[in-house]
Amino acid sequence: MQVWAVANQKGGVGKTTTAVTLAGSLARRGKSALLVDMDPHGSLSAYFGYDPDTLEHSIYSLFQQESIGHELEPEAVLRSTGVDGLQLMPASTALATLDRQLGAQEGMGLVMNRSLRQLEGMFEYVVIDCPPVLGVLMVNALAACDRLLVPVQTEYLARKGLERMVHTLELIQRASRKPVPYTIVPTLFDRRTRAARDSLDVLREAYPDTLWEGVIPVDNRFREASKRGLPLPTIAPSSRGVRAYDGLLEFLMRQDDTPRQEEK
Ligand code: ADP
Ligand code: MG
Repeated sequence: MQVWAVANQKGGVGKTTTAVTLAGSLARRGKSALLVDMDPHGSLSAYFGYDPDTLEHSIYSLFQQESIGHELEPEAVLRSTGVDGLQLMPASTALATLDRQLGAQEGMGLVMNRSLRQLEGMFEYVVIDCPPVLGVLMVNALAACDRLLVPVQTEYLARKGLERMVHTLELIQRASRKPVPYTIVPTLFDRRTRAARDSLDVLREAYPDTLWEGVIPVDNRFREASKRGLPLPTIAPSSRGVRAYDGLLEFLMRQDDTPRQEEK
């Protein structure tokens, strides 16, 4: 099982779109994939028609049960996405209270990692949509993932947010047991604008080793896909946007075809 987490503290940079589209492309290729919504806003859950205010079980249940010494089977949290081969672990808005309620409790940093391990035989790929804040959820995502993807919108101010994100990453990595490799993904690229081309040049110069060589173009079909509650690869597999994400997927599969390391 390969686990990828999509993170950036900035909103509107294409995190949820990246998670949905990569997972949709995996499913189209006949891979079994799981999407995990770790954002208390629940946009990924809402994308597939689930209301993060009223779900009986969400990943919040995993943390809550753990905190009272019970173990909830992670299967209980799985939901259908309506797409063959693709399932969802939804978020609930209660996740926003996690840091305050349970953040300090022992063992809370590894809940997600343990739950995903129990699903090891069920899924070949897991894609996590991360929260925009650094806290116990982000710590869980980092502990559970093999690689972090950092979408960055190609515009003039992108660099500042990215610096903050890379700084945060370094802080966490220093504190965590394993370093997590990351890939920066330029998103919402509009080649007609000077701002987009300049910002890509700046990124290439600043992050020559960690920047993915491709770009995700602006493609309005992403909005259409989210209105229909389906990943774009399911409705328009040869659209510009999907072809770009397919390139990213192939890059990631090449990077990560070594088996997941067992934890000591
Ligand atoms: P985040 O999860 O980082 O907040 P989203 O993935 O929700 O960002 O994207 C924000 C908005 O931009 C959404 O309305 C989404 O449909 C749109 N969007 C994302 N990527 C693209 C793209 N490549 N082209 C056009 N629209 C996009
Ligand atoms: Mg989002």
